[in-house]
Amino acid sequence: MDLLEYQGKQLFARHGLEVSPGRAVDTVADAVAAANEVGYPVVVKAQVLIGGRGKAGGVKLAADEAEATKHATNILGMDIHGHTVRRLWIEHASDIAAEYYASVLLDRSAKQPLVMFSTEGGVDIEEVAEQTPEKLVRHHVDALEGLSRAEAVQIATEGGAEADVIEGVADALTALYEVWMQEDATLAEINPLIVTPERQVKALDAKVSLDGNALYRHPENQGLSDAENEDPIERRAKEQGVQYVALDGDIGILGNGAGLVMSTLDVVAQAGGRPANFLDAGGGSDAAKIKQAVELILSNERVKAVLFNIFGGITRCDEVAKGLIAAFAEIKPEVPFVVRLDGTNDVAGRELLAEAALPNVHPAATMNEAAEKVVALAAGGSA
Ligand code: GDP
Ligand code: MN
Repeated sequence: MDLLEYQGKQLFARHGLEVSPGRAVDTVADAVAAANEVGYPVVVKAQVLIGGRGKAGGVKLAADEAEATKHATNILGMDIHGHTVRRLWIEHASDIAAEYYASVLLDRSAKQPLVMFSTEGGVDIEEVAEQTPEKLVRHHVDALEGLSRAEAVQIATEGGAEADVIEGVADALTALYEVWMQEDATLAEINPLIVTPERQVKALDAKVSLDGNALYRHPENQGLSDAENEDPIERRAKEQGVQYVALDGDIGILGNGAGLVMSTLDVVAQAGGRPANFLDAGGGSDAAKIKQAVELILSNERVKAVLFNIFGGITRCDEVAKGLIAAFAEIKPEVPFVVRLDGTNDVAGRELLAEAALPNVHPAATMNEAAEKVVALAAGGSA
């Protein structure tokens, strides 16, 4: 889960990392009010989940209210590499004496946390790593011991931080490591980490990704996901603990097990159809879960037909049939369903469905047959 800059800075501040005071706003009027409040000069910064905002014109300094108005007007609604700017972060501008780089991430091949630091910050760090690798310090940390003060000082020194800010950089690295560790982040990056003329060390930018699977341990971070950029049905699915991915076609897909769902998508595509979603009801799906899944699929208004592909293992086909019957009793779908039940208790499941005689439900014996039927139905034909 990637955080916007200002959200990352909130986490930084929580762990004692120095950041500039600022406000997140969504309108020009609020931007100007925020600028007046934090005091000029200010920086007007596009809040989008993509880097390189500065080069794209999404980061501008404003000396007074007129400039703040101009920049906020220009940046709100701007497209930055496919991301529309809907929110701005207005912060009090800093004077910059030097721009450094710092990050903490998990080095999967070394199976250890990796702290990186360079005095060549503010620019594309991949370039530094490629062209002048000696200017990027890479330091692995013992995950059980954590980053010690001595290590942090050593990293700052090795990286060539100016002598009078070694302690300040070490403080920043220690705080950044704490953010990464305690907030269950997968990445915590500062570019640039600046030194001010007063020799203060401060995070001017923040790039933080949190581990979505660890969010349950951080109720205070659960509101941080960029809700506006998230598909509302995906969000609801997440809340209900269902694996759902929105796609852009018109055939709703439900299966149990990621492998089966993926091959169902393939078979539907092969039959000439376009899947509207990926929905894995998971192993051991019971009636209640199936009902929930049907509701999720049908809340996408583009869905013209639904393919139910269940291979019973732990999941029992009769339970799935009961779920479907219960869902139909409540929701009364207007689109056709093609149902293929195979595996554990499939005969009982099919019998239940036949007895219920649900309107507009078409049984299929094989996956290919099911795919062809659903594609025909979505196109307005008959199965
Ligand atoms: P990015 O381009 O998406 O990485 O956005 P950053 O937040 O890193 O900002 C881009 C650049 O704008 C920085 O590298 C700085 O050079 C400049 N910048 C950002 N904030 C300030 C500030 O408070 N004062 C000054 N002088 N420059 C700033
Ligand atoms: Mn940056």
